[in-house]
Amino acid sequence: LQAIAIVCGIAANWLCIAITADGVRDIHSRTGQLATIHMILLCLGSRTSILTSHTYLSSYGQQIAHSWLGWITIGNGAVHSIIVLGIGRRLELDGVGISGLVVSRQYPSLARRESKRIGRRRDAYDGTTVPITFVRANIRDYRPLYLGIAVGLLAVGYLSRFGHIWYRSCGTGPNARRLCVRPLVDAIQVSIVVPRPWHFRAGQHIYLRGFGMGIRAFWQSHPFTIAWWEGDRISMLIRPRGGFTRRLLLYAGCTLHALVEGPFGIEHDLGSYGTVLMFASGVGIAAQVPYIRRLLEGRSMSKARTQRIVIYWRLDNEAHQEWVKEWMDELLRLDVKYVLGIYIYVAGNYIDPRTHPASAEHFGEHDRVNRVFGDLDIKYTLGAELDRRRGNTVVAVCAGHPMIDEVRSTVRGALQQDIWLVELGVWPGPSGDSISPRLGPRDSP
Ligand SMILES: Cc1cc2nc3c(=O)[nH]c(=O)nc-3n(C[C@H](O)[C@H](O)[C@H](O)COP(=O)(O)OP(=O)(O)OC[C@H]3O[C@@H](n4cnc5c(N)ncnc54)[C@H](O)[C@@H]3O)c2cc1C
Repeated sequence: LQAIAIVCGIAANWLCIAITADGVRDIHSRTGQLATIHMILLCLGSRTSILTSHTYLSSYGQQIAHSWLGWITIGNGAVHSIIVLGIGRRLELDGVGISGLVVSRQYPSLARRESKRIGRRRDAYDGTTVPITFVRANIRDYRPLYLGIAVGLLAVGYLSRFGHIWYRSCGTGPNARRLCVRPLVDAIQVSIVVPRPWHFRAGQHIYLRGFGMGIRAFWQSHPFTIAWWEGDRISMLIRPRGGFTRRLLLYAGCTLHALVEGPFGIEHDLGSYGTVLMFASGVGIAAQVPYIRRLLEGRSMSKARTQRIVIYWRLDNEAHQEWVKEWMDELLRLDVKYVLGIYIYVAGNYIDPRTHPASAEHFGEHDRVNRVFGDLDIKYTLGAELDRRRGNTVVAVCAGHPMIDEVRSTVRGALQQDIWLVELGVWPGPSGDSISPRLGPRDSP
């Protein structure tokens, strides 16, 4: 579907350029004009999370759309510049001619940045390219309309962001904005006291900015899914990568402060399904836990129709089960009607080396927690669950590609109309392969 949408976008762009074009001059003018118009859309996408909160298009889908629009704009700008240079004319200082030059000069770096899909670097692009284009294009005041709209959108976006951050972060409680970092095996649990709590829901994420971690970290904001909330305290489960998240590890036990932007994201209505089957791998559990909590709370208030919730969680290391132990205990306490089943599959790295692969253990009242040492056979497990499901069924997944693909193909193979598949949150990648054992000298707090 994504490929079709991209091909349609590219085709529409070139149809607009080619249809009824009267020679090279027309193509030159249209490519420049379209490049400038696309810039408006690119500026709109500089904080895609705002769109994520008001549409069902996933954050990943919006990032793809944003980066492909960037590529189309590069194409238009390049063609525009080649024509200008090719026809041997002195470069005109009009909005279109100049935008072509700037687009072709600036956008390769945008493309590099976009391919990394990094929010903070996208900010850098928005903050430099558009004003440069605007200043140059305005030299003779020709066609400033599109660029004016783009810059206006950018300015409104930045102002509303600053207003939003200020609103969320101002507050005078003794612990307001306090950020605690708790290192775990291959992960970090971060909790923040938000001065102005909102109505917490599943599927929400915030952009986090750290105070007291150095100037570089302050200028970055990173999105994280809210995995748990208690009063005015929200918690996130983070997989350390190479930048901001790795730096967080250095501040375990220190008192930091955070600026929070958000919440963004839409909650899927899983409460309207009789059976909810969940699949997660590694840190993907952070996106599932809030949904289980909301379903159990919804049931207790007769707002959810759920009769059965089963979560299958695949781990690479037995120690990873500690990441969400307290939250799982709380979920079991909320589950007064025993509708919840938790299946933890530990694929390797057993704490006790004598553990026998393929063995299983059961815990809790009514054996609601099951730990299996071995890999999860998704086709078999999901097939069996679908056979004994009650009512309409939703399969929710937050995992890496092999697991998502298997879940998707099994659900598709079931060919039943009352089975739905939703992909929750953003999976941050496999655990344990990203943390450098030794932090470099630049990493000292
Ligand atoms: C909506 C959403 C929710 C997320 N929730 C979680 C979560 O609950 N737990 C978790 O561990 N991770 C989550 N992530 C991923 C997390 O944002 C990145 O892993 C983190 O920003 C990496 O920061 P870094 O500087 O250490 O990364 P780097 O080492 O610099 O880069 C590592 C990777 O992270 C990506 N990345 C870096 N900065 C950003 C950014 N500002 N926005 C998006 N991607 C970025 C890069 O594309 C790169 O692929 C989420 C991402 C999104 C978009």
